[in-house]
Amino acid sequence: MTIAIYPGSFDPITKGHLDVLETGAKIFEKVIIVVAFNSNKTSFLTVEERVNLIKESVKHLDNVEVDSFSGLTVDYARQRNATILLRGLRAVSDFEYEMQLSQTNSALSEDIKTVFLITKPEYNFISSSTVKEIYLNNGDISKFVPQAVSDYLKNKK
Ligand code: ADP
Repeated sequence: MTIAIYPGSFDPITKGHLDVLETGAKIFEKVIIVVAFNSNKTSFLTVEERVNLIKESVKHLDNVEVDSFSGLTVDYARQRNATILLRGLRAVSDFEYEMQLSQTNSALSEDIKTVFLITKPEYNFISSSTVKEIYLNNGDISKFVPQAVSDYLKNKK
């Protein structure tokens, strides 16, 4: 069974992330989407909030599990017997960083390969940081995030 992990900040999860995940879940037998956190980094939502919102948003996907971790992605992958690291690519601007990350992870663990997926054009421009910006300025984020996220954030205000 090929297990893939999809690590990210997901602060919050967007329709772009979800689209990448849905494609990954069609390709791999199991996908673990993981909130990767660093206790020194400040975030908009807590790890628990992010995990719960992902859980609400992936209920329709049978072969997807949700988790969180702090530390090296390759260590987490090894612990979970995952051999694939899933990442999304939006624009050329993502490429350099993602290539460096992928090559660093390959250098740390030869067994783990990164697979890049591209979203549908309508979700391509979405980022968690623009979603936060729109939300904090009282704009409508419902087009950009799963329903569970917009409902939760509406009630949080
Ligand atoms: P990180 O802090 O690790 O970059 P993010 O939550 O911002 O975490 O993103 C996780 C992954 O999802 C990254 O590979 C990122 O490029 C990808 N991603 C983010 N938004 C989109 C999108 N709209 N379409 C495709 N991939 C995306």
